[in-house]
Amino acid sequence: MANQVVQCPSCDAKNRVPTSAPGSPRCAKCHKDLPWLVEAGDSDFEQAASTKRLVLVDLWAPWCGPCVMVAPILEKLSQEFSGSLKVVKVNVDESPRIAQKYNARSIPMLLFMRDGELVDTVIGAQPEHVLRSQIEAQLA
Ligand SMILES: [Zn+2]
Repeated sequence: MANQVVQCPSCDAKNRVPTSAPGSPRCAKCHKDLPWLVEAGDSDFEQAASTKRLVLVDLWAPWCGPCVMVAPILEKLSQEFSGSLKVVKVNVDESPRIAQKYNARSIPMLLFMRDGELVDTVIGAQPEHVLRSQIEAQLA
């Protein structure tokens, strides 16, 4: 999977952010933590979920209306928690193995993962403040 380009929230520099990396991506210019939101699928999910950051997996599909509503919320939260959260988006139509593994029959389905282990599951589109407090609880 190709690197993704993100704009640094602190200095606006454009940075390439890898799908997976042993460390945590920082801005090449100002060295602040970067928001880490990537797309992964059957072939690279485990690497993408393997990070020191809290991982929020978004199991979604393009035809799913509530998924489309949740997407900008996750983008915003990935910026708010740029030092501690990684958002991994998985298109379940293109990733049958992951969809089956996590039993993603009802989407959107969000998975909280720590060190590659599932710690919580959230089914259905949640409002921004609910997701924010769930992230804060996981990070506490
Ligand atoms: Zn920067």
